[in-house]
Amino acid sequence: MSTEARARIETQRREDLDRLARQAERAGVRILVDRRRGQHVATSASDPAVCYLVDADAGCSCLGFTSAGKCQHHSLLLAELGLIPETAEERSAALAQDACDEADAAYEVAMDGVIASGRGWPSAPAEAGRIAA
Ligand SMILES: [Zn+2]
Repeated sequence: MSTEARARIETQRREDLDRLARQAERAGVRILVDRRRGQHVATSASDPAVCYLVDADAGCSCLGFTSAGKCQHHSLLLAELGLIPETAEERSAALAQDACDEADAAYEVAMDGVIASGRGWPSAPAEAGRIAA
């Protein structure tokens, strides 16, 4: 599979999860922790007397997850745990930001060097050309 196709699927999956998680929030689904068993439980949007066992890896015990492999409860759990995967664009944006921060830091070090050496800005065209090259 091409990287592009993989990225598209990843984006699609993320959008699905985001959408389902928002639907769950609007519907009033809550993620609770059963401390005794150390498990997450999701309340049902339609029936306040019903709860589903939900797990980031194993999924959800509701009918929707069983048939579709995804549901509001599981999506909301992933969202609350910060487990919805980043899209490829977001990852590269984060990498670009990192590179930018590093460039900033390098620039500041370079400026410190210039100031400390007392040379100031290069004024001769030859020197400026050498630095740019
Ligand atoms: Zn579910």
